[in-house]
Order: sequence, then structure tokens, then C-alpha cells
Amino acid sequence: MELQAFVARRVVTPEGFRPAAVLVDGERIQAVVSPDQVSDRYRIRDFGDAAILPGLVDSHVHINDPGRSEWEGFETATRAAAAGGYTLLVDMPLNCLPATTTVAALQAKRAAAHGKCRVDWAAWGGVVHDNQGDIEVLAAAGVPGFKCFLINPGIDGFTMVTEHELRSALPHVARTGLPLLVHAELAGAIDRATAALASADWSRYSTYLQSRPDEAELVAIRLMLSLCREYGFRLHIVHLSSSHALPELRAARAEGLPVTVETCPHYLHLSAETIANGATLNKCAPPIRSGENREKLWEGLRDGTIDFVVTDHSPCPPVMKRLQEGNFRTAWGGIASLSVALPLMWTEASKRGFTLADVAHWMSSGPSRLAGCDTRKGRIAAGYDADLVIFEAERDFAVREDRLHYRHTVSPYLGETLRGVVKATYLRGEPVFSEGAFPGEPAGREYTANQKCRSAL
Ligand SMILES: [Zn+2]
Repeated sequence: MELQAFVARRVVTPEGFRPAAVLVDGERIQAVVSPDQVSDRYRIRDFGDAAILPGLVDSHVHINDPGRSEWEGFETATRAAAAGGYTLLVDMPLNCLPATTTVAALQAKRAAAHGKCRVDWAAWGGVVHDNQGDIEVLAAAGVPGFKCFLINPGIDGFTMVTEHELRSALPHVARTGLPLLVHAELAGAIDRATAALASADWSRYSTYLQSRPDEAELVAIRLMLSLCREYGFRLHIVHLSSSHALPELRAARAEGLPVTVETCPHYLHLSAETIANGATLNKCAPPIRSGENREKLWEGLRDGTIDFVVTDHSPCPPVMKRLQEGNFRTAWGGIASLSVALPLMWTEASKRGFTLADVAHWMSSGPSRLAGCDTRKGRIAAGYDADLVIFEAERDFAVREDRLHYRHTVSPYLGETLRGVVKATYLRGEPVFSEGAFPGEPAGREYTANQKCRSAL
């Protein structure tokens, strides 16, 4: 096995950043030493002023494969991921067909991924209205946790769960010890608001925003916190958009409930006030809210109430965004951002006094813990996979289509100038992205948190 030394002035380790050499033996990090301690047995890769970050982990991605690979697919999603500095993606159980709610569906996903992935991947299992009996078998088959919706997800093949159905599922979830990821919006407030907006102008972003009020998130989170208290399972709130929920989440933490929270780059970068009428590329659910709300989400990150940041990369064929008619009611909700999430976050974080160590914490070690891969992924330390991002933190670039790399190159960020360029990404010691190119054959593997159980099946 080749010995390599990745050297830079800023290497982001769990202790902060410093000049260092990351010594790599084959696929793993051997040690992190000072640059003058590298022996001549190592092939030196000196990145000078660029920073070296741990490979990013995205625990919230919709790859849509198998079944809707015309929307995205393993090949294009993992290519965009490599270009964005990600080395592990965890796929959501919906949008693909079959949805990942049974072991047979998980096997179909494994077949679809085979030989196509440029980065490592894993798959969440789904909890839907009728698959309570599949939960523990899915855990044994290697999923790192589960996802459910408290509101209709708006796509065929995946159902929401009512509180009653959830109560039948939760004892199973609790027994697995794995987290339950929850899309926390309840229909009541949304249905009421939407009914009142029947004759409103749906080309206006403000109409869409009014149709998905903060209250829908707040009551859903309240319900989940009380179920978490009752059943003792690990609760994870996905894509928090409403800052109104932060005080109760903070209190739940203080109480010792096992709850974690994520938000997304679009909620931290965009704001409702600047979304033009008809600009449906900005539609997602829950919605992008006010600039004031955005600043409170940043405060939530600062004080640790929000644990980390994931993309919720959710592409679709451009026609579904209804760009011609610009109708926020009928357009598909979802924003794709795998290839630009790190620069988006760095642009905003650096303005607010955060460091690259904060960004690595939010985008690598945090999500790796949720996905149960934090003994192998998420930090630059001895024994970890040699997953590294070479990041030119002081360079700006303009977002153009040729920077996106996913299947359909539409984005609300086109034309923006962002701070920080991903120069290269290394997966287990090998380059998977370098200066705009994707060297080598796809070498990504499935990461199963539960290898032992999987081989026992
Ligand atoms: Zn999602």
C-alpha cells in the first residue's frame, strides 16, 4: 500500500486547525503530525495555503434511485457530492421506487448503486403507515436509522404516518437503538392556511410562505418531543426551518431528551424577502422564511441547539419546477445543492465569525454521528478513513452550470459569487474529484453501520 502525506498550513482536526501532515497508509489515516516529521517513505502532497477538511457527510440526500433515476441517480448524485467535498451520502427512503421500507427494497437499492458511486453511501429505512413489522429487520439488514413524515410527502410510493401509526412503530424503533428522522410539519395549520389562500396569487413567494406557517412545524415538533419522552427513542428533526421551535428544542435538550436537529444551507443563506415572484427554484418544504428567522437559525447553530447542516439535496426534472408559469402551488418543492453546499456555508459562516473548524463540525462530524459512522468518518484522526477535502477558503467563484455536476443543472444559486473552492476530494486515500475532473472508476461503497448483523442474515 502506498504511503501518502497530505500537507497544508491549515489542517482541520477535532482539536482545531494547525499546520500539519496527514499521514495515510492505504485507505486509512495513520497519524496527524507536524509537517517536518514526514519521513521520505511518504509521497508528499503539499497543498500549501489551501485548507484540508475531513470529507463531508450528508445524512439527508434524495438520490431517487432506483425508480426515478431520470430525476437524479447514484452516478450523478455521487459525482456532484465528490465535487462538493462530500465522501459519504445517506439516501432518504422516498422518491426512489420501491421506497426503502422493506429489506427487498433495500436490496434493490444496493443493486441500483452497484458500480456507480464516486463516494460512499448508506440508506435510511422508511417508517410508513403499514411497515411496523419491517423496522427491526431493516435495522438488522444495515440501515443506520429511519425516516418518517407527519404530513403527506406529496409523492407516490411513500405514505405519511398518523400519531396512531407512529405509536405502533415507536416500540420497534426504540428497540433498534437507531434514530428516527422526522419531517416535522403537521397538516392542520397548513390546510387551514392553504384554504384561506385559494384565490391568492400563487406566483408570489409570500403566498407560498403563508401557506406553510411556523405553527405547522412547532406543533409537529411538540408532538415528537412528547413521544420521545414517552417511548425513549432517539429523535432527529430534519430540515428545521422555523426558529420558533428553538426555545422548546433547547428546553428538551436541557431535560436530557435524546433529540438532535439539523438545518440546511438554503435556510441559512436565502431569505423570503429576496425571493422573486415566480422564482420556484426556491420552493422547498418547510419553506425558506424571513431574514430575521435566518439569523435566529444561525444563533441556534452557535449555541448548539441545531447540531448540524445537511443539504436535503432534492432534485427533479426541470419541467416539474414549472419555471414558465412560476406557480408556487404546483411546482415541485426541493433544492439541489450537493456541489455548492460547502461554499454556501463558508460564505455565510465566515461573515459571522465562524471558522473552518465550525463548518467541519456541522458538515462532517455532526452528520456522521447521526448516521452511526463516526468511528470511521467525520474527522481527521488516526484510524479514520482517509476522506479529505482540499478547500481554497479565500478564493471566490461564480456558480455556473458546469460547477453543478448533478443530473439537471438548475439551481437558485446560479450567477451568485461564493467564497471557497473545492480543489480536490479524496475518498479513502484516492482522488475522486480534482480540479474539475473525476479521476478513476467509481469506487464508493455502501457503509453499513451494522456489518455483523448484515452478514448474519
Ligand atoms: Zn428531504
